[in-house]
Amino acid sequence: MMSEKSARGRSAMGDKGASVAVVNCGELVTLAGPARARVGRELQELGIKKDAALLVLDGRIAEVGSYNDLRARFPAGIEVVDAGGRVVMPGFVDAHTHLVFGGDRVSEFVQRVGGKTYQEIAAAGGGIVSTLRKTREASEAELADAALRHADWFLRGGTTTIEAKSGYGQTVESELKILRVIAELKERTALRMIATVLAAHVVPPEFKQDRAGYVRLVTEEMLPAVAGHMLAQYCDVFCDEHAFTVDEARVILTAAKRRGFGLRMHVEQFASDGGAQLAAEVGATTADHLEYTERAGIDALKAAGVQPVLVPGSVFALGRSKYPDARAMIEAGLAPVLATDFNPGSSPMTSMAFVISLAALYMKMLPAEAIVGATMNAAASLDMADEVGSLEPGKQADFVIHEFRDYREIAYYVAAPMRPQVYVAGRRVA
Ligand SMILES: [Zn+2]
Repeated sequence: MMSEKSARGRSAMGDKGASVAVVNCGELVTLAGPARARVGRELQELGIKKDAALLVLDGRIAEVGSYNDLRARFPAGIEVVDAGGRVVMPGFVDAHTHLVFGGDRVSEFVQRVGGKTYQEIAAAGGGIVSTLRKTREASEAELADAALRHADWFLRGGTTTIEAKSGYGQTVESELKILRVIAELKERTALRMIATVLAAHVVPPEFKQDRAGYVRLVTEEMLPAVAGHMLAQYCDVFCDEHAFTVDEARVILTAAKRRGFGLRMHVEQFASDGGAQLAAEVGATTADHLEYTERAGIDALKAAGVQPVLVPGSVFALGRSKYPDARAMIEAGLAPVLATDFNPGSSPMTSMAFVISLAALYMKMLPAEAIVGATMNAAASLDMADEVGSLEPGKQADFVIHEFRDYREIAYYVAAPMRPQVYVAGRRVA
């Protein structure tokens, strides 16, 4: 896991990034401040500089300030980009995606439109298990080709870093296959990626009568193999009704922690069953979903310093109405993260701008709070707060020139057909 951490700051497109000066930024949303997750009032402090400029040298931010202050320090011949008075902000950091999978679930989508529930479809052999089958059958090249198409969608939407989970294999070899694809994608796309082994996503059909056997496979074979190949930084478990129990999740996460993995969890998407408390108990970095989490769960997360990762897109795309209680979490002092939960079943969406609109409309998060959740707080949840998530000297020059002139328009114009100019390490990538 050390090698992943040392390698990830580097741009996939070369050891050094590019140099560029961006001038005439109407609102330069810096998010300047401590390199850690933000809470409470900090969630409304975006560090906006008006009529500002940004100097990028070799892929990193060198200076932020007024054009008059900075221009004397522009190196001769540097490319100068005119932002046209528009909003410039850090690239989005999406801390929860299932990027790599075989096939799609378009037919199931149509079944759900016709009235079937997610659980009914899963009980009939659809759902995660159908993607499991297709992912096991797919070659690495097929998986990579499909994932590259989606990686491009992330970049075009202004997302420059994602967390990417495995989880559609659930055998040692197929999980390694997915994680190798993620490792390969890091070299083939400008999108930065942090890999997570989602060791326990669904009980695979061959272990339906032997759940304990699957837990043993994970702890005794899968996690040692993934750690041995240094293919993932985090381990995740789906702890919920129809997935893994609190006791099963505890066994897996405890073993993962012993092997040096950071911990992330899918909890309380469909029921309040103690998943949030388990995330606190095992010292998880994040607890994701939390649609059904109540006061006791929120208090436990606060006491243990666990970051909530909220994925309103999956609530929306499942046609459900129970969103996580973001206001209670913010008032309790938690550091919320927003993410797409991009996956072929419950959340086929890559747009963080749309997730920000959903967070505002259905979770009553202010546009500023949602933007912090989609940048700095997400970066902190991936242990990357010193590299990405804000525009400050020394950080990676991963930024987006939006078409808006006021940052609040990102939440306000729902699903606007944006064509942001996206830069990773100072290079235009979309
Ligand atoms: Zn997920």
